[in-house]
Amino acid sequence: MVDMAENPRKTPPASTATAPVTRATDPSGRPQAGPQIRPQIRPQTEGWSQKAGPDGRPLLQFAEPKKSMPATHLADLTLEERTAAVVAAGLPGYRAAQVSRHYFVHSTTDPEQMTDLPASIRSGLTASLFPPLLTEVKRLKTDNGDTIKFLWRLFDGALVESVLMRYPGRITLCVSSEAGCGMNCPFCATGQQGLTRNLSTAEIVDQVVQANKVVASGDLGGVVREGERVSNIVFMGMGEPLANYNRVLSAVRRMIADAPEGLGMSARHITVSSVGLVPAIRRLTAEKIPVTFALSLHAPDDELRDELIPVNSRWKVDEALDAAYEFYAATGRRVSIEYALIKDMNDHGWRADLLGEKLNARGRGWVHVNPIPLNPTPGSIWTASEPDVTHEFVRRLEAAGIVTTLRDTRGKEIDGACGQLAAAD
Ligand code: SF4
Repeated sequence: MVDMAENPRKTPPASTATAPVTRATDPSGRPQAGPQIRPQIRPQTEGWSQKAGPDGRPLLQFAEPKKSMPATHLADLTLEERTAAVVAAGLPGYRAAQVSRHYFVHSTTDPEQMTDLPASIRSGLTASLFPPLLTEVKRLKTDNGDTIKFLWRLFDGALVESVLMRYPGRITLCVSSEAGCGMNCPFCATGQQGLTRNLSTAEIVDQVVQANKVVASGDLGGVVREGERVSNIVFMGMGEPLANYNRVLSAVRRMIADAPEGLGMSARHITVSSVGLVPAIRRLTAEKIPVTFALSLHAPDDELRDELIPVNSRWKVDEALDAAYEFYAATGRRVSIEYALIKDMNDHGWRADLLGEKLNARGRGWVHVNPIPLNPTPGSIWTASEPDVTHEFVRRLEAAGIVTTLRDTRGKEIDGACGQLAAAD
């Protein structure tokens, strides 16, 4: 899912499993010639505790577990709804806009700082509009302080993560959309936890507001610049964003609405990712919001992708690519294809060729591929492709005319892979 340079999450768990299968042809029987002959390592699920199906594999979890959600927060509501709530509390409606500015512009819920409100109403108003959402459990820094990973405890004890990254000219936040995840990708620490619950709209938005507060404090890279805020959002933290569709879309709306309705961010700087929930991708397309859509593909052939991205058992590679192309056709926004390069599993040259063929079959210039070598994990089946293999993969895509950007991950030293911190705590 993502601009995975900015997606520090998907490093797989360590494993000592050995390579089980070797094959010298691709699934269609194309031989891998001479020195190109390479083993085919198959994904394995390890450490899973979810309910398994008849095939012994964990069941996909689409339905939202029946769990209580946090109390309604200002960021759950539109400005109109906030105004109605304020009026219902016996106050003039314009107070809603004042309080909203404090939250979205100044990143504060502290009544003492809301000096434009009568002192007599501040505490009551903030108590009703700002129930506590995120409590910081850990803050880990790396990359000379330019990357900060947060572990948050939610009102019910569930743990989620977000990662704040400073780059030249932009500040990116990777947000979580669910506590845990029901999609069971075997390489993902979050997937091993199963789905605890979806996050509320405000729990997603508050990750950004908390990050803005940290940026303003100078804790990101030790730099304070007047008016600097999070500029880019990637929905690549814990969870499959499109499995929590309504709340994620409300959060996006809150992010792009101007103050006092929301944060006033550019939709173009928001990336919504998915492992390929095709009906939800089509729904997103119909919204016609010019966000960036990223498809976490990781394999161009169904045989491997069925195992690597279990939701592929519902919607196949071609269906996911068709839906991604339709997003481009409707919005004009170039789609990102995320491809984590895993040694001897999905990094074969013929897979680069097949990916290029499938993308070109749908048109030119509509897509951008981001291969990201996995973190090196010696002895594990989940480890980084060799540099020469990585470059050959990129070369073949480029030779097919596909715009390709080899990405690096941030936050390797701090278990940057999303879900690892929550799993360890
Ligand atoms: S969809 Fe869920 S399990 Fe799969 S990589 Fe994303 S967070 Fe992990």
